[in-house]
This record gives sequence, structure tokens and C-alpha cells, in this order.
Amino acid sequence: MVSSNELLTMTSKGLFCEPGNFYVDPWRPVDHAVITHAHADHARWGSKKYLAADTSAEVLRIRMGEKADLRFQPLGKSQTINGVSVTFYPAGHILGSAQVKIERAGYATVVSGDYKRNPDPTCQAFEPVRCHTFITESTFGLPIYRWPDPQTVFDGIDRWWKLNQDSGKTSILLAYSLGKAQRLLSGIDSSIGPIYTHGAVEKLNAGYRRSGVELPETTYVGEVDSKEVDWSQALVVAPPSAVGGPWSKRFGKISVAMASGWMQIRGTRRRRSMDAGFILSDHVDWADLMQTIHDTEAENIWVTHGYSDVVVRYLKEKGFNAKVVETEFTGEQLEGETEQAS
Ligand SMILES: [Zn+2]
Ligand SMILES: [Zn+2]
Repeated sequence: MVSSNELLTMTSKGLFCEPGNFYVDPWRPVDHAVITHAHADHARWGSKKYLAADTSAEVLRIRMGEKADLRFQPLGKSQTINGVSVTFYPAGHILGSAQVKIERAGYATVVSGDYKRNPDPTCQAFEPVRCHTFITESTFGLPIYRWPDPQTVFDGIDRWWKLNQDSGKTSILLAYSLGKAQRLLSGIDSSIGPIYTHGAVEKLNAGYRRSGVELPETTYVGEVDSKEVDWSQALVVAPPSAVGGPWSKRFGKISVAMASGWMQIRGTRRRRSMDAGFILSDHVDWADLMQTIHDTEAENIWVTHGYSDVVVRYLKEKGFNAKVVETEFTGEQLEGETEQAS
């Protein structure tokens, strides 16, 4: 049963708010796009005008370029667009990630975008928002997903790095350049050795620092003479696409690791030819997904990319009005190098 109060509909361009005449994270160019965060599957080029939380200003500008018409709104402050109130709340996913609350005549819908509840010093913590309809992702929406304590994960990365130093190998840590890379940098023990970055990571590090996020000192790999560096002591943070090509040749003997939620699945590491895998996700695990749905007190739950069928079936059994909302990206996250699935 879909309430007639619903403010959003799914269209071929994405989630559309008809009374407000704007889209949320559209995947085709539109006149007015409201954006949850700067990852490529949410912030697409080509729309005439964008509205996002002001905490995302630096990274969204890096991603969208100088020409994009970006407008920003402070978290927690409402703006009325064609009679519809729009408010951003922190989503805890990456720097500037926000949930969008859309409200009219006492009916509220929240689009969560991507979100997580585990601590992350590089972004504002997720805030549950009460609403009637909650639109959630389900990237890791299976009961098998249970994230370990992040500090335990960082301790493991530190140990791997020291072990590589002892055996003369360069530690190459793969992580998506926006969000995961900075979260790793802020969590590891930077006193172990020098930290180098791939250009894609360094560019976003600069955006994080300009936004006031403290990160340890990093050096862009392209800035140094490779022969002068004792790479065996170094940690190199790079996006997954960097290894395998000529880029990684300069480091000599290497150990490659990746930090991702997918590392919880046996076999993922082997398939990606990693020497080590660390379970660190910027999405909610099963328990936090269910906790969040409970916290919103919403009776209507729309579930998007990931294991939406499983989540919807489970929620229906629990008495929710749950439905799958198809998005353009489904089922390809495991092998793909798409940023949304880390
Ligand atoms: Zn996403
Ligand atoms: Zn994302």
C-alpha cells in the first residue's frame, strides 16, 4: 500500500519530487538535482543546477569541476522549494554525505543516500531522522555482514605494514580515493613510516584538509624521484585501478592489500589477487541497517541498490510497507571498481 502523501516517485532519470520539481541523485541530466554526496554514482555531471549539504562543498567541487552550478545549504537548515521543505542531515558515509529530508503538509520522506553508523573521524556522524517514508540503500543488506570494530581493523593494517617493512616490501593499500582513503589515513598509526599517495587520493586529501579534517602528512608519489625513496618502509595509498599497470612498477617488491566491506566474503581477496584484505566499509552492516530503520520510526521503507529483495522480504515479514526501488546500479558491485560499493 503506497500512501497518497508520497512525495517521491521513481522515474527513468531517478527519484523525482514532483511537487518540488527536483530530483534526488538523478542518473541523467535534469534541471534541478539535490545531491546526497560526491561519489560518482550519486553526483553525476550534466544537470543544470545542484543543491547539496555545505559540508560537501570542497569534495563536490573537486568531483564536479569549476563549471558545475553548485549551491550549498547548511546541515539541519530547511529551505522551501516549490512548497516542499528540504533539509540535510549527516549520513556518516564520507565527508559531506547527507540524508535529504523532504517534507510537505506534515508528511516526511528521508532519502539516506549511502550511510554508516560506525565511528569515522573524517565525517559527521549519522543522525537518525524520524520520517514516514525512509529510502535506504542495501549494499550490504544480508545478515552475514557484521563489521568488526574499526580500531581492530586499523591495528591489523598497522601490523601488516610493519611486517612488510621487515621483509623489504612496499605496502600498497588500495581504497577508493574519496572517503575510504581518508578514513584509512586517519585511522592508521602514521609513526610507522612515511605515507605516499596516488594522485587521485592526494587531490581529495587536499579537499579534506581544506574542509578542516586532520590527516597525517602524505606525499604524492609523482612528486618524488622513485630511486631516492626507500619504498620498503612506505605505505602507499592508491585506488584499486592503480595496481597491475605500469604505475606500481616503481615500488619494487610489493604487498597489496585492500580495505573494503567485500573483504568479509571468502574468495574476494583471492579473486582480486590481494595479499591481505581488511574489512572496513563505509556502509551499514545488517544490524545497523535494521537499527536505523527502527530509529526512523518510518512505516514505509523503500530499498535501493544491493540486496534489496532480501531486505524487503524480511521487512514485510516484520510488518513494514516495504518495496524495492530499482536503481541503475545493481548487482555489479563485487567485481566492478565502482566507488559506491566500498
Ligand atoms: Zn552509492
Ligand atoms: Zn557513496
